[in-house]
Amino acid sequence: MEERRVVSTVRKFLEEKGYDGLIVSSWQNVYYCSSFTGYGDALLLITKTKKFIVTDSRYYVQAEKQSGDFELVKSPAWSLEKMTELVKQENVKKLGYEDLAVLHTMYVNYFEKLGAELFGVGDLFLKSRVIKTPEEIARVEAACDLASAALERTFKYIKAGVTEIGLAARLEYEMRTAGADKPSFDTIIASGVRGSMPHGTASDKVIEEGDGVTIDFGAFYGGMCSDMTRTVFVGEPSAEMRKIYEVVKEAQQTAIDGYKPGMKGKDLDKLARDVIAGYGYGEYFGHSLGHGVGIDVHEGVPVSPGSELVLEKGMIFSVEPGIYVPGLGGVRIEDLVTIGDNGKLRMVTKAPVKDLLIF
Ligand code: ZN
Ligand code: ZN
Repeated sequence: MEERRVVSTVRKFLEEKGYDGLIVSSWQNVYYCSSFTGYGDALLLITKTKKFIVTDSRYYVQAEKQSGDFELVKSPAWSLEKMTELVKQENVKKLGYEDLAVLHTMYVNYFEKLGAELFGVGDLFLKSRVIKTPEEIARVEAACDLASAALERTFKYIKAGVTEIGLAARLEYEMRTAGADKPSFDTIIASGVRGSMPHGTASDKVIEEGDGVTIDFGAFYGGMCSDMTRTVFVGEPSAEMRKIYEVVKEAQQTAIDGYKPGMKGKDLDKLARDVIAGYGYGEYFGHSLGHGVGIDVHEGVPVSPGSELVLEKGMIFSVEPGIYVPGLGGVRIEDLVTIGDNGKLRMVTKAPVKDLLIF
């Protein structure tokens, strides 16, 4: 088996830093490095020449299947005794750990007792994760396709009289029956005046005639998250909500069409923000234009007014402008994009129509 790209990255890092090994402990990076999906129940030790997966009897078969290129160490993942033994056996004197993911108690009660000198690896994994391989991009696309199809099947349940929670449950049911492992985050459904709360998770509010309904949701599928938002209407929206919808749609399209190679996160953010400000709604767009997506639903790649990060090929990020007017309601439209071979943004979300929908 060809060495995994991330394992080569880790080994190069160890070489450069003069470390002997690295313990991978967050479920995201355990999965990223080994494909193991017993989320939270395995640790990895990667050295310059060997790599181990430590997990218990519930997962032996699974670990051999998913992570067969790792040596299986049969032990509860967090056994201090076992890892101490392994660290000693492999002569690991300088040991890296995930300082961005390890809790203080884990550091004190586990890592500090392993008998090695510890070094935080910082954003080693995040820097690698934000640049996706074509295969990883295809997996995010598959998660997006599944979620988009689930939303279309949910449309017929959007009507006056249903609760936000009821609608969220239907949408999640449609995603699960289509094969999603789970929603990639708590489904946001904010209707009517609740729409002015950008992250209003579904409540017991009943959707009423005339409400805008903002639906922000995603599927976790193939180890990747999707993330998309649509705002639809139940009954005729007010003239102002109609206008806000068109402004948000124009802001999103302007950013998508206006991307140029070499742009930073802040440049793309500005394209959308200027449209919204131009219509006088600048103060009602309080969040960033977008963020990276991958194993985590928020995975690096800030597309925000202050972001100096240059957008690069392989990145997948959201473009999600919104306008939220307290006491009136809100509109957000969100899709995922990546940078195509032609240097333009390419849609990762192949979404249902973006024209204003009235149910
Ligand atoms: Zn979202
Ligand atoms: Zn998002």
